Amino acid sequence: MKYPDVQNYINGKFEPSNASRMDVICPTDGTIISTLPMSGKTDLDKAVQAAEAAFPAWSAKTLKERVQVFYKYRQLLDQHREELSTIVMEENGKTMGESVAEVDKSIELTEFACSLPQMVQGEIMEVSRGVECRVDRKPLGVVASISPFNFPNMVPHWTLPNALALGNCVILKPSEIVPISATRMAELLKEAGLPDGVFNVVNGGREIVEEICDHPGIKAVSFVGSTKIAKVVYKRACSNLKRCVALGGAKNHLIVLPDANVEMTASNVAASMSGCAGQRCMASSAMVGVGKVDHIIEKLCEEARKIIPGENLGSVISQAAKERIERYITEAEQAGAKVLVDGRNATVAGKDGGFYVGPTVIDFVSPDMAIAKEEVFGPVISIMRAKTLDEAMKIENSSNYGNAAGVFTQSGGWAREVMEKASAGMIGVNIGVPVPREPFSFGGWNESKFGTSDITGKSSIEFWTQLKKTSTKWNPEAQINWMS
Ligand code: NAD
Repeated sequence: MKYPDVQNYINGKFEPSNASRMDVICPTDGTIISTLPMSGKTDLDKAVQAAEAAFPAWSAKTLKERVQVFYKYRQLLDQHREELSTIVMEENGKTMGESVAEVDKSIELTEFACSLPQMVQGEIMEVSRGVECRVDRKPLGVVASISPFNFPNMVPHWTLPNALALGNCVILKPSEIVPISATRMAELLKEAGLPDGVFNVVNGGREIVEEICDHPGIKAVSFVGSTKIAKVVYKRACSNLKRCVALGGAKNHLIVLPDANVEMTASNVAASMSGCAGQRCMASSAMVGVGKVDHIIEKLCEEARKIIPGENLGSVISQAAKERIERYITEAEQAGAKVLVDGRNATVAGKDGGFYVGPTVIDFVSPDMAIAKEEVFGPVISIMRAKTLDEAMKIENSSNYGNAAGVFTQSGGWAREVMEKASAGMIGVNIGVPVPREPFSFGGWNESKFGTSDITGKSSIEFWTQLKKTSTKWNPEAQINWMS
């Protein structure tokens, strides 16, 4: 096998587990590249014990001391950029360029953690003569982070650097489909000087996620994945009185107006729907063309035809995903939609076992079709037609999801209307994938996110800390505090 068997990482060491093992498949050719343990309660108990033991010393360090580890870690990510990107490419199936961009984003997320001392200063005020109130941000304790398959390196970095730098001890549960990246993260964090037990990795699937939600030693759970599982995790973690933020799936709409810049719109829409083979929660899989936009759709098809599986388009994650995506396309076609660019039955020479779907553009999709409402998670864009911007906004607003929405136009007024009326947490104006860059936070609305704070940026500081409010009086002659 290309990679050694994946092990859990507990208390600074790779730990064998008695759990059954599952294969890790490289989706570009279908070969088995490793295996991982489908861990259970015993493995989690060990990880929580290690994290609990490490917490007092780690949380007692100052924030400035803790971020020193992340300055070093950031350097290590940079030094190992190519190796880490290769792992992402091989376990996830995205292209090398996309994998490098993913690792670069992890570096940016780590840089944000290094800047936390500049943002987290607490507050202090003399509230009565000689009486001071101060507010400090304190870590929660042992916390967990559960991640999906589509960004094996970046999504764990949404949570790890911030949660750790803010003084928590973390248990990461990577997606069982792509567990190899997390193994290298653990090694590099140790090399950067993170003390043993502060960061632990427990591998597995449903069973270990349920154990995390139930474990009394875990104070907070962050989850990124599909809406179906986000709901399960959010309800279960909250019912066990834990803090939880659970990010779910998406159906992101791009509204295209007739005055939009043709080249920019076509290339952005094509990149948004097909980047990472459409397996991004920020991918646009629905476009609403308002009025006369045929010239833009024509250009979009031209752009889509330049996207070649195995060259500038990676594979989807599994045979089941390929079949699901192709089923959506076929059902839409049977219901009357017009397939303008057809990515079904894509093959790549020399990669017979790979799971490829080509770029697909479907026009005249109606808002009630499954492909218009559900998350397809493949390189497919469904175009709906609207006569007015109002009508387009009604289509966007009717989605159960609400991760991102965007508009392509040269009119400030129309752009403003979409910014105001879209029911989504992240909005793009002439941008196909409006991921907020650090220090802005990432998180959707509606069924794309459950919980109050976002998962990255400034908002995540709220999630990973709790406020301690202290009132002090040292001088006996000071005025009486009005409450005493
Ligand atoms: P998934 O929901 O299948 O899996 C996510 C995690 O949940 C994995 O770690 C998995 O082991 C675990 N899991 C799976 N089934 C479970 C069950 N029955 N009970 C408990 N835990 C379970 O998601 P995925 O297929 O790995 O990832 C793709 C999904 O993630 C898409 O819907 C995508 O939109 C979403 N996603 C969302 C964001 C966001 O920011 N909103 C970001 C990335 C991915």
